[in-house]
Amino acid sequence: MNAQIRLTEEETKALAKEHGTPLLVVSTKRVTENYQYLKRKLPRVEVHYAMKANPDEHIVRTLADLGSCFDVASAGEMEALTAMGIAAARIVYANPVKTAEGLETAKRLGIHRFTYDSASEVDKMAAVIPGGEVLLRVRVENPEALVDLNKKFGASVGEALELLRRARDKGLCVKGLCFHVGSQSATADAYVRALKQCRDLFDLAAEEGMHLTTLDIGGGFPIPINGQDINLDEMTETIQKYVDELFPDTELWSEPGRFLCGTAVQLITQVIGVKNRDEQVWYFLDEGVYGSFSGIFFDHWNYEFVYFKDGEQHPATFAGPSCDSLDILYRGHNAPALEEGDLILVPDCGAYTSASATTFNGFAKAKSIVWETENTKSYTVLKNEQRHFIADAV
Ligand SMILES: *Cc1c(COP(=O)(O)O)cnc(C)c1O
Repeated sequence: MNAQIRLTEEETKALAKEHGTPLLVVSTKRVTENYQYLKRKLPRVEVHYAMKANPDEHIVRTLADLGSCFDVASAGEMEALTAMGIAAARIVYANPVKTAEGLETAKRLGIHRFTYDSASEVDKMAAVIPGGEVLLRVRVENPEALVDLNKKFGASVGEALELLRRARDKGLCVKGLCFHVGSQSATADAYVRALKQCRDLFDLAAEEGMHLTTLDIGGGFPIPINGQDINLDEMTETIQKYVDELFPDTELWSEPGRFLCGTAVQLITQVIGVKNRDEQVWYFLDEGVYGSFSGIFFDHWNYEFVYFKDGEQHPATFAGPSCDSLDILYRGHNAPALEEGDLILVPDCGAYTSASATTFNGFAKAKSIVWETENTKSYTVLKNEQRHFIADAV
């Protein structure tokens, strides 16, 4: 795993001066390193980037050039990839419940790989795209995940065989199974449980003459967060060991979102107002929960703030620029004394941030630029132990 990248104070100031704030600073080099890390650690697994994590064109194009495939959930995402020249054969429409527009768009664009987890979905797919290739999404238990997608998706083991049969009987091409252990999974445990569960289902399906050939192990790969012990090397090695043991001949896919883009983007935001209210200092920023900090609500994420200021830290409230009282990022968040115009750098801000930003109240979405480490030698690379993260350097 790669150490965190951070702009220095000088770089942050120079970029803010040149481009204004709020500003998203994208490193496509870091996207490349993240992709290569997964390919190196899980060499048999074909990567399908889940673009909902961050549909930024620079990120998508970087991954496309590296040979990545893509995981999409809507007509809009299919159209966006197609407009960038990405072939239909590299796209899987992995929303278990598809819209009529989505299926028509898939048909028109030649996208013919899907996931599903219900009987009614089989009928919908069979009607629009006869012979389409399908993976059944199965439910896996993982209460430890930061965002547990299994509350919403995945057929139970009890339903699985019936759903595979139904897809076959309706003329679809049943390729295999998929699962998603939930986002930001800290250990391999849930993957191992899911792999064993899928092996059993592969065997049961084979007994009925259905030879499954593909297994999609989903996303969920974590990025480092302070205070969470994550050993991604060990995690990926464990997953690799189990897929080799349980699925030696199966075609393997994955659908990482957060892991590929999360550490590749840094946000620069600015203090636009300071006031005292209820005995606490309030800092108003030019980016809030309706913008890139939407991840505070939608992604349950706790962002790291880099202040470039020394001095004693006191609990402060951080609010966004809109006129809604919901637009409060943090209360009682320790910070040094800040002034209007001070810049705050937010590293590891690439996943589920700008993707779910809105223009509520007329505030434009943060501008995004590509800016690479080659521009300077002064990128600060934090030591792994500072990040509570054990890793191998690239
Ligand atoms: C969101 C999503 C992903 C990506 O999950 P990460 O935790 O960001 O890796 C992958 N597959 C599907 C079907 C998803 O909905």
